[in-house]
Amino acid sequence: MSATTTSTLPPTVAAHLPTGVLVAGRWRPAHGGGTFAVADPGTEEVLADVADGTEEDALEALGAADAAADAWRRTAPRVRSDLLRAVFDEMVAHADDLAAIVTAEGGKPLAESRAEVLYAAEYVRWYSEEAVRAEGLARRAPAGTHHQLVLRRPVGPALLVTPWNFPIAMIARKLAPALAAGCPVVVKPAQLTPLTTAYVADIVRAELEARDLPAGVVNVVPTSSARRVSGPLLADPRLRKLSFTGSTEVGRTLLKASADGVLRTSMELGGNAPFLVFDDADLDAAVQGAVAAKMRNAGQTCVAANRFLVQAGVAEEFTARLTEAFGRLVVGHGADDGVTVGPLIEAAAVDHVDELVTRAADGGAVIRTGGERVGRRGYFYAPTVLADVAPDQRVVTEEIFGPVAPVVTFGSEAEGVALANGTEYGLVAYAYTGDMGRAMRLAEDLETGMLGLNRGMVSDASAPFGGVKSSGLGREGGEAGIEEYLETVYVAL
Ligand code: NAD
Repeated sequence: MSATTTSTLPPTVAAHLPTGVLVAGRWRPAHGGGTFAVADPGTEEVLADVADGTEEDALEALGAADAAADAWRRTAPRVRSDLLRAVFDEMVAHADDLAAIVTAEGGKPLAESRAEVLYAAEYVRWYSEEAVRAEGLARRAPAGTHHQLVLRRPVGPALLVTPWNFPIAMIARKLAPALAAGCPVVVKPAQLTPLTTAYVADIVRAELEARDLPAGVVNVVPTSSARRVSGPLLADPRLRKLSFTGSTEVGRTLLKASADGVLRTSMELGGNAPFLVFDDADLDAAVQGAVAAKMRNAGQTCVAANRFLVQAGVAEEFTARLTEAFGRLVVGHGADDGVTVGPLIEAAAVDHVDELVTRAADGGAVIRTGGERVGRRGYFYAPTVLADVAPDQRVVTEEIFGPVAPVVTFGSEAEGVALANGTEYGLVAYAYTGDMGRAMRLAEDLETGMLGLNRGMVSDASAPFGGVKSSGLGREGGEAGIEEYLETVYVAL
């Protein structure tokens, strides 16, 4: 490790961090008084003991959301908008505290955490603006016999289930459009990273209270057993919407559980992003984009470049330059100066990454850099480049969720596209080419919800984020994001 471990959660932040269940505007212990520990993945030290929500807590939270639903639906859009704008201002004002929490419980370097906080806040600002623009339609029926009025109204109480890898962005992407649309929510944060959610929820709680708005609009139930909370909620007819971000496997389970209630669902699931580099690409830009697309959060992002598909003419040059760039990265605790790659989230994640690399090497891949664990404490893995990887290796076919870049070589454009599409996933793809005609063919032919053309980052609060195939249903961000929380009523008159 290149940097020394110095800090976990700053004491001033820890002192103001709620660790309970939030129901109807009040933080309280879980029923039964159970707690679970949240640890720093960079030091393995416990940061806080958090209330371990139960079925009873979950149902009380839904009861509070349901009780607030009518008043929140009728609250003027401008009032909802002003609330969100105030939450945005508070998030920005407390960006350093929030970043410290994201780094402490999630591990990413502070600069990345701060960027995540500002990115998350941007969703809140965008939907504060969108809250007053949710539109319907009025027109004369084509037959001329009557008029058609299309109204939009909030779908109702929503359950928001989030993953650990972007503890503030993932909740902001759901919470902001839900509140803008007029839906009260129950949040089930990831077990590994509930502290950031608690801080943000407390900002919303305080703003609701200050404006005398219904307290049950935002409720939070952390738990060590997701099923214990989601099971009873999904079976309860008061719940009208599920928005989930996480693995495809859990998404499938939740879709099945949502079927009986014919629940509206949004699913932001796993990915296996191809990163295509063609012979005519600007290689400097491609390498820069590759590092951005691969290494944010040590490779633990759903939009992480998972497979580097490189045309034969530039494969060696690209691999050599990527290896050099990875060699300049600094692995260490996210709170330490100069660190660019933090720890993985838990011990099992390091085992998983190491196994994929070992199997690839056994199958003939060449480790150009990395390929090993780093340090004795914390869950660190070295930035790794694998060359000459066969396309059927697990490191190519599975979501790696770690700092490993396997390079697979292809010949023709058609072959590259076929490799890129040869997966059940379709969240994002990246492609580097200097040929605009090819770029447009890729936009039409790649089976993906998002495409970064000569760009290693695609996310933006004002753009529709989401996948096709097993990567999900629905979109977050932009105009599409609020649609997920609205239903359509047609009035003939
Ligand atoms: P996960 O599916 O294990 O967990 C996600 C959430 O679901 C957590 O809150 C977890 O507690 C909860 N959960 C787990 N099992 C559950 C069950 N049986 N019933 C109800 N809830 C349950 O995923 P993770 O490990 O937290 O996150 C990583 C995964 O998330 C990766 O696959 C990644 O690609 C995906 N992800 C997708 C996006 C996207 O926008 N498409 C964004 C971030 C992460």
